[in-house]
Amino acid sequence: MYALANLHRIKKAPYCNGGTQYLTVSWNGDIYPCCSLAGNQKFYLGNVFQGIDYGRWKNLLEQIDAKNRNGCRACEFRMICPGCYAVSFLANGDVTRPVKAFCQYIKINYEVARKLLRYEFLRPAPESKRNGGEMSV
Ligand code: SF4
Ligand code: SF4
Repeated sequence: MYALANLHRIKKAPYCNGGTQYLTVSWNGDIYPCCSLAGNQKFYLGNVFQGIDYGRWKNLLEQIDAKNRNGCRACEFRMICPGCYAVSFLANGDVTRPVKAFCQYIKINYEVARKLLRYEFLRPAPESKRNGGEMSV
């Protein structure tokens, strides 16, 4: 809790919530940014009994910040993408390299959402709303 209470000391990365909104604690108290990376010493952030390593934590958050990630800087979705740096690490061995298939999935999702919103706002209001909410029989 102390570690989470001190989150304000570290600039939040506009990316997924692993390491920012929540952490993973393993059976022996070791702390990692997310469950997919638990046990990997590269992502070790400290231990609940011995304390958090703010230097490692800050370094990780700087790496996964979409503004610093190779391949994300020019992407139109970078400030809203819930990108998964665990997938980047597991597929590319590098948290800063996006996985193309994942990016396609994100882009398709946002295109569908945009189209649905456009359809929702442009279609004529239902008859019941147009006449003040009164149902016609
Ligand atoms: S989106 Fe990926 S990196 Fe983020 S918490 Fe989930 S598994 Fe971990
Ligand atoms: S869609 Fe891909 S390139 Fe764009 S911000 Fe997300 S992970 Fe980065």
